[in-house]
Amino acid sequence: MKTRVVIVGGGTAGWLTAGIIAARHCADSTSSEQTEVVLVESPEVKNLGVGEGTWPTMRDTLRQIGISERMFLSCCDASFKQASKFVGWSQGKNEHYYHPFTAPVGYGGISAAEHWLATAQEVDFESWVCAQGAVCKETLAPKLPQMPEYAFHLNYGYHLNAGKFVTMLQHHCVEKLSVKYIQGHVQHVLPADNGDIKAIELADGEQITGELFIDCSGFAAILIAKHYQIPITSKQHILFNDTALALQVDHATDEVPIASCTVASAQESGWIWDIALQNRRGIGHVFSSDFTSAEQAEQALLKYVQNDPYLAAQEISPRTIKFTPGHRETFWHHNCVAIGVSAGFVEPLEATALVLIEKSAEWISEQLPRERSAMTVLAKRFNTLTRQRWQEIIDFLKLHYVLTQRQDSEYWREHQQLDSIPDSLQEALTLWRSQAPGLYESNQRFELFSSASKQYVLYGMDLKSEQKHPASFAQKEASLIKRLRNETVHTTEKLLSVLPTNRQFLRRVMEGQGQKK
Ligand SMILES: Cc1cc2nc3c(=O)[nH]c(=O)nc-3n(C[C@H](O)[C@H](O)[C@H](O)COP(=O)(O)OP(=O)(O)OC[C@H]3O[C@@H](n4cnc5c(N)ncnc54)[C@H](O)[C@@H]3O)c2cc1C
Repeated sequence: MKTRVVIVGGGTAGWLTAGIIAARHCADSTSSEQTEVVLVESPEVKNLGVGEGTWPTMRDTLRQIGISERMFLSCCDASFKQASKFVGWSQGKNEHYYHPFTAPVGYGGISAAEHWLATAQEVDFESWVCAQGAVCKETLAPKLPQMPEYAFHLNYGYHLNAGKFVTMLQHHCVEKLSVKYIQGHVQHVLPADNGDIKAIELADGEQITGELFIDCSGFAAILIAKHYQIPITSKQHILFNDTALALQVDHATDEVPIASCTVASAQESGWIWDIALQNRRGIGHVFSSDFTSAEQAEQALLKYVQNDPYLAAQEISPRTIKFTPGHRETFWHHNCVAIGVSAGFVEPLEATALVLIEKSAEWISEQLPRERSAMTVLAKRFNTLTRQRWQEIIDFLKLHYVLTQRQDSEYWREHQQLDSIPDSLQEALTLWRSQAPGLYESNQRFELFSSASKQYVLYGMDLKSEQKHPASFAQKEASLIKRLRNETVHTTEKLLSVLPTNRQFLRRVMEGQGQKK
């Protein structure tokens, strides 16, 4: 049986989804169970063109769809992201902490967090358990140039140029994975008798039929919202930010350091993101229009840019993007499933959008329904899982706000009000005040945020969990942690002495050296 999957939208969500499905199902054109992937994109509606920080999952995604890392790095002006650095979130005094992608030493076997809590805590948690913050501080790469593509010393994702990423994915999907690309504005949706979508009709009258329709049409959400009227569940009472001002600013010279982490600097009523690519930085201010005006937010952004000597002096004119933080009540309805911004959007504090696109597309690709009856079962399961994921994302993002000691603005004070904190997060905080987040505390098999991530944020934000007395640890465990701690110190020193800077590494790649396939 031939299945046609019709994807509406050619932004990052559309092309990643097309690539992930086509790489699994369209490689063997002789198979009788063939799947055809068709992507339709409006020539009239521009894609978002933002979304430049990824998780380490992107390495697997690129590899899985057959893209070489060297090609990706050079086509997308990309650089390495090893962590998020949070500045001023705890006290608003320029203090900072790292949430790195590498798990604490001994993770999975021993809780280094419990041991750190039992020490005098003279060293911050992240430095005590991991080398990555120190490596980020020196803007070093996560690996040596002679290492194979996608391999690493320290776990990493990427910073990338979103526009170039879409172009690269489009060429790859069309040329290598047999995705059919149609430019056309979807004007009408033609329903079948059972309420499914039978076909979409383009402005020129062409009708495209299919078995499964994937809505990747961004904020337009033309299938899931315009046709099926599935509303957004707003989460603005939890996550207040609803506006972003986005900028692209060149590096001052081609010698300035390229940061190894996304920097998120807390502001009076929001925060500023800062993402370094090879040739420029993507900088923006996400804020709540309930607490500040667009003019004030722009002033704060301007000040941030002007105070940075590594940025070129240039006229800045940010682009404004307004959004309702939240997600659809249902994501898969009849034979239509929403992925990307059409499914929901919240502030990009932990770059959760692209990873959710990857995870959703992988799930659909693996479970691609062969029969209409199976689709109803799959839709139900997908909806349950995706709702859980959104709750996880919302709780984890809110966690960054609730432990603040900032009292300097209404925005920060309101974030600490109990009625803005979901019950699920309040419950988790009760647990974490008494013990460190553990490997098995979540019942979810496919959780997005590991207990390691929770530990980095909690202790970065100075949460004081109950301390075990050092004497209460078994002798064997105490000597193991001592050895692991020494190893971390040694690894940190070693990596600082051998790793090249991001700029040195990326220059080599651009010159065609290093990185074995
Ligand atoms: C300020 C900001 C910063 C962000 N930062 C990050 C980040 O660091 N990391 C991260 O993971 N995510 C981030 N995101 C989210 C990320 O940008 C999006 O998840 C990603 O770009 C996916 O968008 P999309 O493909 O769903 O929608 P879009 O890019 O908007 O694409 C929509 C597509 O639908 C098409 N379309 C619309 N209407 C029609 C029609 N009628 N007919 C046919 N086609 C149609 C358009 O032509 C377009 O191709 C950020 C978002 C914002 C707003």
